[in-house]
Amino acid sequence: MDILRNITNALKTAFPGVKVYATMGNNDWFPSDQLPDTSHFLYNATADLWEDWIGDQNQVENFRKGAYYTVKTTQGLRIIGLNTNLYYTSDKLTADMTDPTGQFAWLEEVLRNAKTAGDKVLMTAHVPPGIHVPGKVKRFYTHYNTRFLDISRTFSDIIVGMFFGHDHYDGFKLLQKNGGSPGVPMFMAPSITPWRYKIPEKSGDPHNPAIRLVKYNQQTGVPLDIHQYYMNLTDSNRNNASDWKIEYKASEEYGQTDLSAVSVDNIIKAFKTDKSLLDKYIRYNTVLANGDTTVNACDEKCRAEYNCGFIMMNEISFDSCYKAQVGGSARLCSSSLFIAMFATMYYVLI
Ligand SMILES: [Zn+2]
Repeated sequence: MDILRNITNALKTAFPGVKVYATMGNNDWFPSDQLPDTSHFLYNATADLWEDWIGDQNQVENFRKGAYYTVKTTQGLRIIGLNTNLYYTSDKLTADMTDPTGQFAWLEEVLRNAKTAGDKVLMTAHVPPGIHVPGKVKRFYTHYNTRFLDISRTFSDIIVGMFFGHDHYDGFKLLQKNGGSPGVPMFMAPSITPWRYKIPEKSGDPHNPAIRLVKYNQQTGVPLDIHQYYMNLTDSNRNNASDWKIEYKASEEYGQTDLSAVSVDNIIKAFKTDKSLLDKYIRYNTVLANGDTTVNACDEKCRAEYNCGFIMMNEISFDSCYKAQVGGSARLCSSSLFIAMFATMYYVLI
């Protein structure tokens, strides 16, 4: 709670009077990954901290139930903040449930109402669905992954973007509609903490601290661009001063006029034939911390994992995509290797 309070206060001081739409992460609990289906003092205490950002008593009550809420921006865009930590494979409390805290039923109702009202929707949450690559890491329990994606597909005509964290990797995916046309773009923000896992056989990739500015159309919600900033830790340590600078602008790097589902689909298709474009993406995964090491280490099989992971959202479809490209099945990593140290995400709408 001290950490959450410090960061909340820092944001309130830096952005006075500006709405911040925050979501809880798996490490905002102690011990980690144990966000419960029931009311809890941590849900309540966090609701108290973020009450004036949420700004609607009914939604603050939802947050007390399970850390989810929805608000409408002054421009008429619907924001939905979810607690996807409940679906995370490391949360043993919710493994055998069907709809912890009733969040799915609530989400369906909010989306139905949004559709009736003609609203466009942006969703934010910490843990992303689908398969993380490289390593073929499944984040959600399978039954939650299926339900989450089914709901998202049903409303893919009104959901214009999803924003996640947790991966500690800069990345994106595309949820396809039934039939394969572009549905919803999903963006995974790299983290501020340069955390890397260490296990006896292997260390995770290092990465630099990162923060991003997402440009979006305030009426339609369509993501227009990402300006990715980073701090080069080596230089900052050498100079004894933090050295934040721009890493890239997505529109320029990937040659698109916006980051809509169609544009992200264009990028993903280009990756299949343009090796240097995928190299760029892999370099950005680690926020430039790994030089060309990661790129050079990514062989044909690793590239097949990437190309399947962008659009294949469950293990079965991922495996069949992978086999079709290289034969055999992708290596499997434990999802616990990727637990974040700095879990909460804060979207500041300016
Ligand atoms: Zn996390």
